[in-house]
Amino acid sequence: MNNPIYLDYSATTPCDPRVVERMVPFFTETFGNAASRSHSFGWTAEAAVEEARSQVAQLIGAHPKEVLWTSGSTEANNLAIKGVAQMYKQKGNHMITAVTEHKAVLDPMKYLETQGYEVTWLEVDGQGHVDLKQLEDAITDKTILVSLMAANNEMGTAHPLKEIGALCKAKGTLFHTDATQAAGKLPLDVEEQHIDLLSLSAHKMYGPKGVGTLYVRRKSPRVRLTSQMDGGGHERGMRSGTLNVTGIVGMGEAAKICREEMDTEVPYLIALRDRLQSRVLAAMPDAVINGDPDNRLPHLTNISFPYVEGESLLMGIKEIAVSSGSACTSASLEPSYVLKSLGLGDELAHSSIRFSMGRFTTEAEVDFAADRVVKEALRLREMSPLWEMVQEGIDISKVKWTHH
Ligand SMILES: *Cc1c(COP(=O)(O)O)cnc(C)c1O
Repeated sequence: MNNPIYLDYSATTPCDPRVVERMVPFFTETFGNAASRSHSFGWTAEAAVEEARSQVAQLIGAHPKEVLWTSGSTEANNLAIKGVAQMYKQKGNHMITAVTEHKAVLDPMKYLETQGYEVTWLEVDGQGHVDLKQLEDAITDKTILVSLMAANNEMGTAHPLKEIGALCKAKGTLFHTDATQAAGKLPLDVEEQHIDLLSLSAHKMYGPKGVGTLYVRRKSPRVRLTSQMDGGGHERGMRSGTLNVTGIVGMGEAAKICREEMDTEVPYLIALRDRLQSRVLAAMPDAVINGDPDNRLPHLTNISFPYVEGESLLMGIKEIAVSSGSACTSASLEPSYVLKSLGLGDELAHSSIRFSMGRFTTEAEVDFAADRVVKEALRLREMSPLWEMVQEGIDISKVKWTHH
């Protein structure tokens, strides 16, 4: 068994060896610039980029011309949100998103608020769902974009893309979805789900870091964007800069493997996740699974261990790589804003761990991790004064604490 055990596939994945194999020649032999039109080095690179473009397009039911290369999902989200805001500002200045989105959506939205745009921040219910009636009511004739993620990176809840897309279409507003976590895990089809813009990142789907895509719908409606990077006019003028050919080839191969293997991989991931959950719950029946138990990512589970301090728990299980809250905020001790928005108190949010499994995870690793985490959680809980009070039958929600 590998040590430490990696159960943090939602933070990043290793490259699939098949992806690396496909990439290698593009570092050395076929190193051309895809924008070089006058010789075969350029043509070879361009052909590889176009093949990758159609491989990514196939994963999401798009036309290859609708796929733009970026440096990852952070850039794709920024380009979608700021690009639409600037391009459509004559039509309106209103955007809608939810409080549980990734920072790469929240922060561009906050930036737009400083530039005279209005943002509606939808709250979510206890499972992480927005209320579709509330969404509908929030859309006005000034609304130019709704941005709601395909599935949440912290607790896995999947939004009903098709319903949201249909609503946006009926109301005449554009719909962007950050599908970074959903790629290769949940069905994505930009036509069936009425998606106008969609962000993907290679390193969350067994491709290399530093490459991603933004899907931009070409017809009914034709979506236009103000570029955020100006230069040589690459990518239909929407994203200048010499293409990362090696990374792009890797992302194409990664997308192809995801598409071909989803049908077998997803049931495998669900089995691993359910195995981990039942093992934890059997040993610690009051552990809480966060998010929607049904409509969610197959490979991820977020579990709260009541009366156990999360940071101490993580410190105690060094041989297992997991996240508390999201990786992006785990440097701070602030409880996760996503878990708090589900209504979890600071205590419970602090005691939560995200386990995310992947293509290379084994049953033995899951069993070891579950047993190890539970053992440590029970040990810490025995030392917790709060737990002692609970055992004595004291209702700690009614305790008046004195602060010094
Ligand atoms: C990882 C992640 C991002 C950021 O993607 P990068 O390619 O690392 O910039 C954005 N959104 C979600 C939901 C993610 O999980």
